[in-house]
Amino acid sequence: MSPIPGPPVRVTAVDTYDIRFPTSRELDGSDAMNPDPDYSAAYVVLRTDAADGHEGHGFSFTIGRGNEVQVAAIHALRDHVIGRSVDELCADPGTLNRDLIGDSQLRWLGPEKGVMHMAIGAVVNAAWDLTAKRAGKPLWQLLADADPEWLVSQIDFRYISDALTPDEALDILRRGRAGAEDRRTRLLERGFPAYTTSAGWLGYDDEKLTRLAVQAVRDGFRQIKLKVGADLDDDIRRCRVARSAVGPGIRMAIDANQRWDVDEAIRWTKALTEFDPYWIEEPTSPDDVLGHAAIRAAVAPVKVATGEHVQNRVVFKQLLQAGALDILQIDAARVGGVNENLAILLLAAKFNVPVCPHAGGVGLCELVQHLSMFDYLAVSGTTDDRVIEYVDHLHDHFLDPVVIREGHYMAPTTPGFSATMRPESIARYTFPGGTFWAADLNSQKGHAA
Ligand SMILES: [Mg+2]
Repeated sequence: MSPIPGPPVRVTAVDTYDIRFPTSRELDGSDAMNPDPDYSAAYVVLRTDAADGHEGHGFSFTIGRGNEVQVAAIHALRDHVIGRSVDELCADPGTLNRDLIGDSQLRWLGPEKGVMHMAIGAVVNAAWDLTAKRAGKPLWQLLADADPEWLVSQIDFRYISDALTPDEALDILRRGRAGAEDRRTRLLERGFPAYTTSAGWLGYDDEKLTRLAVQAVRDGFRQIKLKVGADLDDDIRRCRVARSAVGPGIRMAIDANQRWDVDEAIRWTKALTEFDPYWIEEPTSPDDVLGHAAIRAAVAPVKVATGEHVQNRVVFKQLLQAGALDILQIDAARVGGVNENLAILLLAAKFNVPVCPHAGGVGLCELVQHLSMFDYLAVSGTTDDRVIEYVDHLHDHFLDPVVIREGHYMAPTTPGFSATMRPESIARYTFPGGTFWAADLNSQKGHAA
């Protein structure tokens, strides 16, 4: 006798949280454009009435003020999600993705860029977290096991089909199956290569820079990254300090966080070439496709990297078409979530450009490792010249934090997207009412009085 079907399981709540960590006090994360970031998450939890108790967790990353705006944007999407059948949602997150992007009134706030698009990314990523938890697989594995036709059905090809057709995407994914089992074995044994930014924040003095750079090499990293762009004399000194600390065999990337105009970017990068920088990251505005192309032509063989602030697949397409970048830096929480990142990974594969994700922020390492591991198993098929950024703070706030061994991200094995924050961290760092902020704001009031 077959069981009597019960009512369909549905999404019952879309709960949002404004979570902020006081990272600016230690100058962690400081760079030429962002001197005092408080790493923050506009955090969302999809709850269901399923007996399994699984929830979908996702977030947008911001750096403090404005996180309440990001939370409000996520809240504006809730009517698209509440009441949705969980089985249908998890069988096809692409439909949710299309429905969110297609809200004709909210679309006016973008389209497909900025706060509203990041909110869509948070909700879509939460749906993928739920999907992977219900499938009992870490997301990288769910994606790598997925049928290529289904993966292609998850991608919105609007505005990119002149550069990548569904048939081409299918072809890349079908070819990606060859040797995938061997790569999975290697991934589980060795992990995926990482580089560290932890030594190079702009607010750190030379002693701290040296100590952390030496430690990074000792810990097995083959690449470090330095923030540059505030003061050229300082940059020359810091690059010299870092290069002498790590020696000639270690790759050293530099990151200007959009600080320069095009000509200035070229001059400044050339002034630092004696220290053999591997890439210059975000030399100018993330929207300036032709500017990146000009910089790339002028500073070669130094490579040009960008992407953490590239707002959608359309701009990535143009950067690739214009030959404007050597390294494509996806971000798991900037664009419209996993579905759009699938499009971007496939665009990068089509143009044969390596993907080295951005992960400086809270929870970004946890998320993006899944996308790079999928890329290795099922798309690019290689880790050559591919590294995921690693920064060493705030991981302890997550239930399934990243594990770094010998400069490699070890593949997560817990089902989901590694996005779930510890309930006690949420309770402590919710702004402004969590226990940390309430006490902090209270003590400031005391000082003022
Ligand atoms: Mg950067």
